Amino acid sequence: MKIVRNKCLIWTRVSSQEQLENGSLNTQLTLCTEYARSLGFCVIEHESAYESAKAENKKFKQMMKKLTDRKNKFDALIVLSASRFSRYLPLASNTLMELKKVGIYIHIVRGRMTSENDKGVMDIFQEFLRANQENHERKEITITSRMAKLKQGVSASKPPLGYITSNNRGKLDDNNILLPSIQLCPKNAPLIKKAFKLILQKRTLTEVTAEINSFGLNINRKYLGELLRKPIYCGKLVDKTLMDKGIPFVMGRHEKLISISEFDKVQKLLSKKALKRKKKTNEEEIPLNGLLRCDTCQKNLTGYLTKGIPYYKCNHGCKLNIPGKKVHRVNDNLLSSLQLDTTFIKDIINLIEIKYKEKYSEAIQKQKIKRKELDKLDSRLENLLLSKLDGEIDNSTYKKIKNDTESNIIILQDELNDIKVPEAQLIHQKIINLIKNPNTLYNRLSVYDKKPFLKTIAIDGLTYNKKDNKFNNIKINRMYKLHP
Ligand SMILES: [Zn+2]
Repeated sequence: MKIVRNKCLIWTRVSSQEQLENGSLNTQLTLCTEYARSLGFCVIEHESAYESAKAENKKFKQMMKKLTDRKNKFDALIVLSASRFSRYLPLASNTLMELKKVGIYIHIVRGRMTSENDKGVMDIFQEFLRANQENHERKEITITSRMAKLKQGVSASKPPLGYITSNNRGKLDDNNILLPSIQLCPKNAPLIKKAFKLILQKRTLTEVTAEINSFGLNINRKYLGELLRKPIYCGKLVDKTLMDKGIPFVMGRHEKLISISEFDKVQKLLSKKALKRKKKTNEEEIPLNGLLRCDTCQKNLTGYLTKGIPYYKCNHGCKLNIPGKKVHRVNDNLLSSLQLDTTFIKDIINLIEIKYKEKYSEAIQKQKIKRKELDKLDSRLENLLLSKLDGEIDNSTYKKIKNDTESNIIILQDELNDIKVPEAQLIHQKIINLIKNPNTLYNRLSVYDKKPFLKTIAIDGLTYNKKDNKFNNIKINRMYKLHP
């Protein structure tokens, strides 16, 4: 294919306000135009953008459309450097080849490279690669600076409703520690706080939205729900940068709107389960419903409430109707008279051990890592003091590193305190004690766990004999024996 150098398009781009103000666009255009003239292009057109170097960017797409439109008959695209074209290597190299196929060549002014020949193509690929790596490094720098902020308890994100950007953002305190980047918004913070309090008073999200909107906010129920789930209001900073390092959150040093325990309560109330469960109140008064059988008919007894008093009755012809209180006492007596077969204790402990590991192995691992990090920081402090005494570092460096290290130690200790791992021995004792006293265990269970528990104790359910006021022919779990 014969190479024509008639018409070219110059593409200039800046990605920051700073570059824009520096007159970077003009510089790019001047240099590219000189270059185009030197190569003999007669028709020179120009497109420019203020956007990042992404393929999906609007202006870039428009420019590519213009460039490849056959009617426009462009022969070349001229950019000052590879990074002005794209920082995304696969796209950049692919575009270069696509353009080459239709007779449009890319020119990179810095280094005077052109895709007109094979050597030029290789050189341009190298340049794309470099731009790609630079971009990667930039991202790393952003992550590092985010991490540094977060580790000092400073939010690295836009403030949510109720907070505003602090005037002290980016400033250091007397100990060279970053000051919080956000502060309470005098107008909205009281409203968000009120929303939390109203939820705590068991008001529904719809009611709360209406109420706080009546004070001048204008947000919908869904958005308020999202806001009330943000841990930043109780001081926790949750961030992707932290997540990627396995840190669920750090404690922020900004002013909190609500305590952690209240925030946790709000989360429970917001998840609908809590609301749904409240409705099924009957279950609590008649926990044996579904487990009791009539001795005469061998059919299930039905539990019900009259004026709040529980009864179980037989609906199968024998007219048996017994007060709940009476049967519940028989049930309590049965549970109290059970004795654990001690040969099972070993198996139970093994089972607890397995469950314990399932539940806590991750936390234990995290604990270990944090303790190791703490040890490291402690010895760093010691070495630091030695370096200072030996005169290897000056006092201000010493103080700065010391403060940094100490605040990291505080953060780590906080994180360590938040990892709750109970003593395995204690758990064994507690569970064994409960299993030895099934009646205590039964009374501690929630109404939803009571029934399954009883079913594991009395495998075939409980058949009530009115005459003797006791359960007949109970099949007890082999773990237990009845007191003689
Ligand atoms: Zn009956």
